[in-house]
Amino acid sequence: MSRSVLVTGGNKGIGLAIAQAFAEAGDRVAVTYRSDPPEGFLSVRCDVSDPDQVDQAFTEVEQAHGPVEVLVANAGMTRDQLLLRMSEQDFTSVLDTNLTGVFRVVKRASRGMLRARRGRIVIISSAVALRGEVGQANYAASKAGLIGFARSLARELGPRSITVNVVAPGLTDTGMISALTPEQRTKMIEETPLRRLAQPEEVAGAVRFLASPEAAFVTGAVLPVDGGAAMGH
Ligand code: NDP
Repeated sequence: MSRSVLVTGGNKGIGLAIAQAFAEAGDRVAVTYRSDPPEGFLSVRCDVSDPDQVDQAFTEVEQAHGPVEVLVANAGMTRDQLLLRMSEQDFTSVLDTNLTGVFRVVKRASRGMLRARRGRIVIISSAVALRGEVGQANYAASKAGLIGFARSLARELGPRSITVNVVAPGLTDTGMISALTPEQRTKMIEETPLRRLAQPEEVAGAVRFLASPEAAFVTGAVLPVDGGAAMGH
C-alpha cells in the first residue's frame, strides 16, 4: 500500500503519531503544521481556519503525492472556560477550527475522492463529545458536531465508495492536556475504567484500522479510544 495520506495538525501529539503509523505501513504521508514542521514528512503550512491556506495546502500535496486518498482531520484546539466566563471569541474560535476547519479540509479532499470513486476520511473527535465536560462547552459542541457531520457525509459519499468515520479519544498524553490542573487530570483518570491516559500511538492504531482494507465496510462509525471513559454514551 502506498497511498497519498494527509494528516492535518500532523506536527505533534496525536497527529504526529498518526502520520508515523501510516508512514511505517508504506504510505506517502503529508502533514499540515502551523508552528514547526516535523522531520521526515512532506510538510505544508496550513491554518484550517483560512480557506485559502487549506486550498493551497491540498494543491501542494497533490503536486507531490497525487490526490489525497486518505484524509485524517486531526487539527484541533481547546479554549476551556466556565460558561459565564466564556467569551463569544472563546466559543467561535473553537468552533471555527474544530468544526468548520474540518468542513473545509473534508470538502477540499472530497473533490479528488469523488473523481477517483474511492477514499477514506477519518475525523478526530473526542470522548468529551459523548459525555460532556465542565469548562468545555465550546470544545464538546465542536466535537459533537463532527459526529453529525461525519454521519451525514457517510450517507452522501458512501455511494462513491468513500468511507467517513470518527475516532473519539479519551484523555491522551499530548501537549493539549498540559492546560489541565493536576486535580482535573486525576479526576479524569479516576473516571476511566482502565485508569490511565491514552498514548498517541493507541489513537493512531484505530485511525490506521479505519483506513485499512479490513475496514472497507465500516462507515459512519464512532470508535472510542478512551479506556472506557465514555462507555454507555
Ligand atoms: P496538540 O495540541 O498536541 O496538537 C494539536 C494540533 O492541531 C497541532 O498540530 C496544531 O498545530 C493543530 N492545530 C490547532 N489549531 C489549528 C489550526 N487553526 N489550523 C491548523 N492546525 C491547527 O493536541 P493533540 O495531539 O492532543 O490533539 C489532536 C486532536 O485530538 C485534536 O483534534 C484534539 O481535539 C483531539 N483530542 C485530543 C485529546 C487529548 O486528550 N489530547 C482527547 C480527545 C481528542 P500547531 O501546533 O502547528 O499550531
